[in-house]
Amino acid sequence: MSSTKPKVIIAGAGIGGLTAALSLLKRGFSVEVYEQAPELREVGAGVQVSANGMLVFDKLGLTDRIMAEAAHPERREIRMWNTGQAWTAFDLGTISVQTYGNPYVTMYRPGLLDILSQAVSSLAPHAIKLNRKAIACEDTGDRVTLHFADGTWATGDVLIGADGIHSVVRATLHGADNPEFTGLVAWRGVIPMDTLPARLARNVSSNWVGPGRHIVQYPLRRGALMNFVGIVERTDWTEESWTTPGSHDDMRADFVGWNDDVQQLINAIPQPYLWALKLRKPLPRWSEGRITLLGDACHPMVPFLAQGAVMAIEDGYVLARALDAHTDIAEALKAYESARLERTSRAVNGSADNTKRFHNPALGDPASAGAYVEREWAEDRLLERYAWLYHYNADTVPV
Ligand SMILES: Cc1cc2nc3c(=O)[nH]c(=O)nc-3n(C[C@H](O)[C@H](O)[C@H](O)COP(=O)(O)OP(=O)(O)OC[C@H]3O[C@@H](n4cnc5c(N)ncnc54)[C@H](O)[C@@H]3O)c2cc1C
Repeated sequence: MSSTKPKVIIAGAGIGGLTAALSLLKRGFSVEVYEQAPELREVGAGVQVSANGMLVFDKLGLTDRIMAEAAHPERREIRMWNTGQAWTAFDLGTISVQTYGNPYVTMYRPGLLDILSQAVSSLAPHAIKLNRKAIACEDTGDRVTLHFADGTWATGDVLIGADGIHSVVRATLHGADNPEFTGLVAWRGVIPMDTLPARLARNVSSNWVGPGRHIVQYPLRRGALMNFVGIVERTDWTEESWTTPGSHDDMRADFVGWNDDVQQLINAIPQPYLWALKLRKPLPRWSEGRITLLGDACHPMVPFLAQGAVMAIEDGYVLARALDAHTDIAEALKAYESARLERTSRAVNGSADNTKRFHNPALGDPASAGAYVEREWAEDRLLERYAWLYHYNADTVPV
């Protein structure tokens, strides 16, 4: 596509990079996305997309495709780790639409990535370039260059580092980072729904809370799959990777004493994976000249607000708006950063704060556990904790 607008090159074709690419293409920019993987393949796991992310997808014309691919849990329950007692926390379906203007859906990551990549390719068939691992970048004042491991390079007017938690672009701009291990590991797995007994194969999202650990489970792919993420406080595992397999025995040992439903879910996971959660402090700034960052490259967070991907989605859309609104590129990137820095830092810190809530020692004491859940997940407390997140409008925030 020929364009008088700046040519934008993006490192990383994940959820954030592809949302940015689509948002830019829709505004007439010329875009190239460089992905290290030989094929576009997301980790087989789930991702929750709250109303603020769905607003962006709606503006990008993706609502129908997302609604057809997603699962639509009837409600979210908070469940007690040992007894299984359930409290309804808030409705994810109709109430999300009534309260925040858009639905709250749960998605299989490969399904979401397919929708985004097809939408990008339908506007620019050759925009996504695979097998191109970025190793360095430079800003020469009037151009940017992204260098790849195979010795080739790409040039453009703007570079977006959407290359995730181990970002090369971030390292070039800000130096090596120093992540701090949180002392938390995440077990994850995806269960074919038809292998679960009817009692467990429900269209409901559940947060199991207990002392020192919690579990989040929700349906994916119109209810064909059940996602499972179990977070445990332990210090003997520090590998930060989505694809490191773990064993059922090790996983079961982490949930000894938990409700029988949990044991059945664990047993039904075909292959569990183990991931160490690390924390990076929010960066004071993201952009330098013609280069900026988005998503996990600049504000990775622990997943306890389920907002990491949603923040990357908002970033991509707001960044496209800023580049469209300003002719000076450095000014556009500053405007984007000003619009996004405070909000994303709040999400980073708010996610970390939720650990104490989900793992509170009060949950270990039968005398206090029920009252603790009723207080912490009371409707007014939930509105207070989540309204600032879900009411955000990436389409109107000033840039
Ligand atoms: C257990 C767990 C559960 C989560 N659940 C949720 C949830 O429910 N909701 C939510 O919103 N978020 C959730 N998150 C967070 C979410 O997964 C991330 O925040 C999100 O994936 C960030 O998107 P991104 O596009 O910035 O980065 P990524 O998804 O990491 O994508 C980066 C892309 O860049 C590519 N890449 C990397 N390096 C290079 C390179 N050198 N050159 C070229 N390409 C490169 C990668 O291959 C990848 O395709 C969860 C995270 C965890 C750990």
